[in-house]
Amino acid sequence: MIVDKGSEIEIEESVLSRAVDAHYQDEDRQENLLRPQYLEDFQGQGSIKENLSVFIKAARGRGDALDHTFIVGPPGLGKTTLASIIANEMHSEIRMTSAPALDKPKDLAGILTNVSEGSIFFIDEIHRLKPALEEMLYIAMEDFEIDWVIGQGPAARTMRIPLPHFTLIGATTKAGSVSSPLASRFGINIHIDFYQPEELSRIISRSARILETDITEGAVMMLARCSRGTPRIANRLLRRLRDFASILGDGTITEGIVSEGLKRLGIDENGLETMDRNILRTIIEYYGGGPVGADTLSISVGEAVESLEDFYEPYLIQQGYLKRTPRGRCVTRKAYELLNIKGGSDADQGLLF
Ligand code: ADP
Repeated sequence: MIVDKGSEIEIEESVLSRAVDAHYQDEDRQENLLRPQYLEDFQGQGSIKENLSVFIKAARGRGDALDHTFIVGPPGLGKTTLASIIANEMHSEIRMTSAPALDKPKDLAGILTNVSEGSIFFIDEIHRLKPALEEMLYIAMEDFEIDWVIGQGPAARTMRIPLPHFTLIGATTKAGSVSSPLASRFGINIHIDFYQPEELSRIISRSARILETDITEGAVMMLARCSRGTPRIANRLLRRLRDFASILGDGTITEGIVSEGLKRLGIDENGLETMDRNILRTIIEYYGGGPVGADTLSISVGEAVESLEDFYEPYLIQQGYLKRTPRGRCVTRKAYELLNIKGGSDADQGLLF
C-alpha cells in the first residue's frame, strides 16, 4: 500500500493539535493499528456496509473492477478506512494519494499508467484537484484511456494511452466543491454521517481491546457521548485517557478518570471544547446571534476558515447550536441556553427559529 498524504502535512500544521480536532494529526500515526481491515470490523453505518457488501460481491462474481466510488463526509469518519476495506474485500491492490499532492498532469498520468487491472486508486480531498487533472480523470474514468500530448508546437500530437480497468475512490469533506461532471462519473455514492453514541461505544470497546486497556462500560458510554460522533476523536481521547488512567489511577479507565481527563482537556460531556463555545459566544455577543459570514467569523475567533467550516461547524450544526443560512451563520436558541445567555427567544430571534 502506497500512502502519499501529500499536502495533508500542510493542513496538519495549520490546525492546532487538539484532542477533539477530527483532522489527521501526527499522533494519529497509531491509527493504523486500530483501523478496521474488513467490513465486519467497520462499526456502524449499517446501510452503507450492506450496500457495499452487495456491490463488492456482485463485482467479484462478475470478475469486474468495482464501479468508481465517491465517499463524502466530515474528517475522521472513516473515508480512508472504507477505501482500504474495499481494497481488502476486493482482494485488490490500493494506491493512495491526495489531490493537493498531484501537481501536474504527468503526476496523475504516471499513477494511472501504472495501476494494475482491478486495483483501487484512492484520491483524498478530491475537491482540490486541479482542472487540467480533473479533465484527464474524466476520460480515464469513463473510457479507461488518457490523452497524452507528445512534442511541442506544430509538431505536437496527441496519443491515446489505454489504461487497465481500475476503480477510482474519491473522498471529500466538501461535496459541494466537487464539479458536477466529476461527481456524475462515480457509480457508487457513499455519504458517511456522524456516528451514534452506541456505534462509537462499539468502536471504543474494540480499540480498548486492541490497545489492551481496561475500560468500564460506563466510561465507554461517557467517552462515546463526547467524541463528536467521530471515530478518530473517540480513538484519540481513548489514548489520552489511557495515559490519565495509568498516572492518576490504577490503569483502568473509569467514569471518574473520564470526567477528570475531559476536564483537563477542556472538553465538556457533549464533546464541545473552548473554541466551540467561543464561536457561539462571538456570534451572539458581536453579531446579535447572526447572520455572520464565515470569513468575518474566522477573523473574529482567530481560527482558519477551513477548520471552521470542515470541523467546528458540522458538529455544531448537527447538534442544533448553529445554522447555515444563505446570509451567513446564525446561532439557535439552544446555543443561548448552553452559554446561559439571555435572549434567543422566539420573539427576539423570530427569523432564526
Ligand atoms: P477519514 O479518512 O474520514 O478522515 P479515517 O478513515 O482515517 O477517516 O478514520 C479515522 C480512524 O477512525 C481510523 O483509523 C479508524 O481507526 C477509525 N474508524 C473510522 N471509522 C471507523 C468505523 N466505522 N469502525 C471502526 N473504526 C473506525
